[in-house]
Amino acid sequence: MSQPESHTAYILHRRPYRETSLLVELFTEDAGRVGVVARGARKPRKGATPLEPFRPLQVGWGGRGELRSLRGAEALGAPAGLRGEALYLGFYLNELLLRLCARLDPYPRVFGAYRETLAALAHGGRDQCLRLFEAGLLRELGLAPDWGRCGRCGAAVDPEQSYAWEPEVGVVCPACTGDPRPFSGRAVCSLTGGGGADRCERREARDLMRTALAPHLGSRPLASRELLRSVSRGDGSKENP
Ligand SMILES: [Zn+2]
Repeated sequence: MSQPESHTAYILHRRPYRETSLLVELFTEDAGRVGVVARGARKPRKGATPLEPFRPLQVGWGGRGELRSLRGAEALGAPAGLRGEALYLGFYLNELLLRLCARLDPYPRVFGAYRETLAALAHGGRDQCLRLFEAGLLRELGLAPDWGRCGRCGAAVDPEQSYAWEPEVGVVCPACTGDPRPFSGRAVCSLTGGGGADRCERREARDLMRTALAPHLGSRPLASRELLRSVSRGDGSKENP
C-alpha cells in the first residue's frame, strides 16, 4: 500500500460518528477544508495524538468523495494555549471557516492567517486581530475586493471620510453613494492594520464585519457568538464579534 500524502492541518470541529468513530473537519494548508472519518477515535489508543482543536497536526487520509478516511495524525507542536474567552474566540474562527470555506478549496493564505491569529489570541490579542482575520478571509474568498479602496471608483479610503458597505462591491466612498454611511474611514483603515482605533471605531469595525459576513453565514446563529455573549455579559469594554 502506498503511503498517504501528509498535510499540515488544524481540527475545526469533531463529532461522534457511528459507534466508535469521529467525524472530523480539518482545515489544511494545501487542500483547504477536508472532512475525514477517524475510525475508532472515540476510544483512542494509549499514546495517540489527541484529535483536538487549536493544535497543529500532520495528517494523512485515504479514499475519495466527500468524506475521506483519516490515516494517521501526528502533533506538529503544542496546542495554541487558548484559555477562557480566547478559547471561545478560537471557536469563533473555526465556525467562520466551517461556514465560509467550501470543502477541498485550498486557501493557504487564510491558513497562515489562522495560525497567526491563534497565536495572537493566546497572547491576549482581541478585536484588532479578529478584524484583520475576518477582513483577510472575506478578501481571500473574493467577497470583499479591497478594504483599502472604494469598491466603485477605486479611491483610497480616507480616514476623515465615512463609508457605506455594498455586498460584492465592498466599502463605498461618499462620491459613489448617498446616506447612510455608517462606517468611519478610520474604522475601515483599521481592517488593513492601519493604526489604533478608539472604542467607537472598534465598534464600527466590528459592525462593518458583521454586516459584511452576515449574508454568507446563513440564518443559523453562530454558537460561538452566543457563548461569547453569555461569558462577557456586563463587560461593555470589549466588542464581541
Ligand atoms: Zn468611490
